[in-house]
Amino acid sequence: MALKVNEIFHSLQGESTFTGMPCVFVRLSGCNLRCSYCDTGYAYAHGTLIDIEEIMDMVSHHACRLVEITGGEPLIQEETPALVKTLLDKDFTVLMETNGSMRIDLVDEKCIKIVDMKCPSSGESEKNDTENLKRLSAKDQLKFVIADKNDFHFAVAMVNQLNHKIPGGNILFSPVAGTLEPPRLAAWILENKLTVRFQIQLHKILWPNIDRGV
Ligand code: SF4
Repeated sequence: MALKVNEIFHSLQGESTFTGMPCVFVRLSGCNLRCSYCDTGYAYAHGTLIDIEEIMDMVSHHACRLVEITGGEPLIQEETPALVKTLLDKDFTVLMETNGSMRIDLVDEKCIKIVDMKCPSSGESEKNDTENLKRLSAKDQLKFVIADKNDFHFAVAMVNQLNHKIPGGNILFSPVAGTLEPPRLAAWILENKLTVRFQIQLHKILWPNIDRGV
């Protein structure tokens, strides 16, 4: 079994509740969306077919127990659930970042899903599979990338539908880099007395001039 892999690298986790932790990233190729602010267009097509066994060797080489499967969109590849299961069976902690348009229950429930529900400014919010809100478990994370007040209201409405299904600390509100000034989003969260986690992409602060492999 093989997957089309764009890159595998060791870095610090830049988002989610695992921010700051060393992590091995397996970036899979291909995406079914085209978000207006996408910063990983290089993963749309370019990649190499690699067997799961070889991916495991490449991951293990880094001696790091935290692994994130990302993309692109990982769930468009049929073999992704098998890769996740193989990592879990070897006792890795596995995160998977997914764009909200695909069924998240395709992967083992022990995998921690970071579901990036698309807001209107992405141009792709109509592709959200809102049934995923019911499929989240308490350890999963729900992320909103917010460009403006309209996106903010959209995210709040979706959070309200959750009815406390996941802890507020697992709901991530991020400003679109270079579009929304982070303090504005922070102020909206506080003014609206939301129990959500504000986050800024740590890797963009640490390595501002590098746009891949970090
Ligand atoms: S889902 Fe992610 S990789 Fe795909 S277009 Fe949107 S931002 Fe880019």
